Amino acid sequence: MVPDYDHQSIEKKWIQRWADEGAFTASIEPGREKKYVLVMFPYPSGPAHMGHVANYSLGDVVARYYRRKGFAVLHPMGYDSFGLPAENAAISSGVHPSTWTRDNIKLISTDLKRLGYSYDWSRELSTCEPQYYRWTQWFFLKMFERGLAYKANAATNWCPSCGTVLANEQVLADGTCERCGTLVVPRWLNQWFFKVTDYAERLLDDMEQLQGWPERVLNMQRNWIGKSRGAEVDFTLDATGEKIRIYTTRPDTLYGVTFFLLAPEHPLVDLLVEGTEHAGEVAAFRQRVNASSTIERTALETEKDGVYLGATVTNPLNGESVPVYTANFVLIEYGTGAVMAVPAHDQRDFEFARKYDLPIRVVIRPPDGELIAEEMTEAYEEPGTMVASRDFDGTASEEGKEKVCDLLEAEGWGARAVNYRLRDWLVSRQRYWGAPIPIIYCDKCGTVAVPAEQLPVLLPEDLPLAEGGKSPLPLTPSFYETTCPSCGGPARRETDTMDTFVDSSWYYFRYVDPAEAAAPFDKEDVSYWMPVDQYIGGIEHAILHLLYSRFFTKVIHDLGLISFNEPFSDLLCQGMITRDGAKMSKSKGNVVTPGDYIDRLGADTLRLYLLFMGPPELSKDWSDAGVEGSHRFLGRVWRLVYERYIPMMQSDGEPEGPASRHRAMRSLTHRTIMMVTRDIDQFAFNTAVSFIMELVNGIYQYTSQDAPDRAVLDEAVSAALQLLAPFAPFISEELWSVIGKEGRVNESPWLAYDEELARPEEVTLIVQVNGKVRDRMTVPADISEEDMKARALAAENAARYLEGKQIRKVIVVPGKLVNIVV
Ligand SMILES: [Zn+2]
Ligand SMILES: [Zn+2]
Repeated sequence: MVPDYDHQSIEKKWIQRWADEGAFTASIEPGREKKYVLVMFPYPSGPAHMGHVANYSLGDVVARYYRRKGFAVLHPMGYDSFGLPAENAAISSGVHPSTWTRDNIKLISTDLKRLGYSYDWSRELSTCEPQYYRWTQWFFLKMFERGLAYKANAATNWCPSCGTVLANEQVLADGTCERCGTLVVPRWLNQWFFKVTDYAERLLDDMEQLQGWPERVLNMQRNWIGKSRGAEVDFTLDATGEKIRIYTTRPDTLYGVTFFLLAPEHPLVDLLVEGTEHAGEVAAFRQRVNASSTIERTALETEKDGVYLGATVTNPLNGESVPVYTANFVLIEYGTGAVMAVPAHDQRDFEFARKYDLPIRVVIRPPDGELIAEEMTEAYEEPGTMVASRDFDGTASEEGKEKVCDLLEAEGWGARAVNYRLRDWLVSRQRYWGAPIPIIYCDKCGTVAVPAEQLPVLLPEDLPLAEGGKSPLPLTPSFYETTCPSCGGPARRETDTMDTFVDSSWYYFRYVDPAEAAAPFDKEDVSYWMPVDQYIGGIEHAILHLLYSRFFTKVIHDLGLISFNEPFSDLLCQGMITRDGAKMSKSKGNVVTPGDYIDRLGADTLRLYLLFMGPPELSKDWSDAGVEGSHRFLGRVWRLVYERYIPMMQSDGEPEGPASRHRAMRSLTHRTIMMVTRDIDQFAFNTAVSFIMELVNGIYQYTSQDAPDRAVLDEAVSAALQLLAPFAPFISEELWSVIGKEGRVNESPWLAYDEELARPEEVTLIVQVNGKVRDRMTVPADISEEDMKARALAAENAARYLEGKQIRKVIVVPGKLVNIVV
């Protein structure tokens, strides 16, 4: 009697056994090589979703594979548990953020446990727990001590819907909030920043160490940091003689300046127009500008808008005086907030010049001919030859950049300069559900750090949200009233909390010692486990979490706590799981929930299907037929063991059929080990699964008629289970014990293969001309018909019989013979 494949009881049984046996506990083993396999931890907003299962199944294959290859493996799990969704849930349902968060952690961890992921659950952490955020606050203080955390007035991005400021990285390219999709508006506010710009150069340089990262992610970071080389040049305000510094990446176009622009926020704007006829116009212009975000203002298609300020400046290179305007597309936070305008060679300046009827002067001639200002329909931004540029006429523009810089430096008019697009990271949030910023304001002493021994500054968890979902902290004297650690007088706590991206910037350090009470982590433990060898997560974090984590790691390095500079050696970014081609979302009603499939078809089926769907990096479309197919395959493996393997191993008959039949089975087994090993190394999990499927088919064929060689059958079935184990660990473990193998399949050493056996088999190809054998050659057994045809037609001995003849037909007998009819 073959028992049913009862996935529910099998999966339950092995979860318990593995837990009892401490199968996945990570421990430091000096002298043994380690692998730290990390998946991006989830935000707990409910049960697991398919994106989680897809990501975590990839990570689990890698972790299980490395364990069986003999590495000490750290594979942890935790929760990114502070953040706005908890507050939004509180607004809509009245449940307190802390209750909502902890309830959701239970839901998602139940799912993850049912999926059989080989996490070391003893290291589970949650960023909203005081024993964790105490150290988040500690890092804040370390940055504050070093001048890397500072408070300043700045033009910030305000999300009206989230009721908080956002970092630049959290505003999408279309100017909307990364969290909620609302259009972000600018606000001039006093906020806390981390000085990421101090690390811009190192963030760029150290990318050399990130050979294991997708080039796409590195490029996104490079563009975000946006390093440019150019020159700073001092123009002179004619009315006062005051110098106004600009930054340009095109010093070769300095002779083409026909006007000058200031950002609307530039302090000079008010000084210039105060009490003049232009003041009113400037005020109205500012109102228009304030209504749009930075992203909108700088978008190429945005209408250029500006006002003449009634002033002129002089260009030091040619002594020419040009008018000064303020313009919407000039930003105070980039460069100096003042720019020279060269309409012939900059598209935004060109559009501005055409709109306000300002002169356009060509100073770069394209390689293929003349450029006439009046006839231009767009700016010419490419390199060329300098013209109308005095001594530089005839100089190639790239070379001209250097020569103009030489002149600027020689005359003291300016100097070479480097600029970055990257801005400091705005980390304060006017929200409740986050780690309080550990700062105290005293009327006498100013801004004072909370002493480290007073950490954590506890977030009171019993407060209801204030009116409109606002943070209750500024309204709660028991929270903000305190004494100054410096003078002992009455003082007030900072009531902003930290951006949740701060919490997630260092969590992978904490997994190493989640219970450590005296430090964020133990230095020696971290030097064993870190850096992370393989990180896996979504591409949407390319310039948020991944950039912030790199910054944090460099700061931790500079604090003398670690000797490495980069947190993640290798990075795999997985694609999305879509349904009917669209992102799964509750509003579209196209969500499929892992829990339902685990109940009905089993965790093994779900894992196997998600890994088999396609290459990890690509987006893949969910198909119910596909997931059923994976379930049927596991049923086939189940029956293979019960219906074929067990009875055949118990019979005492002699092997039947020719020796080549048994050798072919062995050959398939070894070839499968070779291919699956290679594919796991390359993250080609989908093709690895299909090789295992072919092996199972091959074993069915081998056992379908004649009696097998029992040793050959045993080798094949054992290998199939051992190879399947990282993908479908429960059924593999169960069948491994059913066939009476020693120990656990999930702990069995990774298989080696015999190269001789693994090599694809070869056959002799016969080439005939008009039915007569004219040539023979050795070809791979799996040669295609096209390839057979091509090789036969090129065969030397056959060629003599083909000379001068018309080929009428080529008949191919796959794997055996080609007959050329002439
Ligand atoms: Zn928002
Ligand atoms: Zn004080």
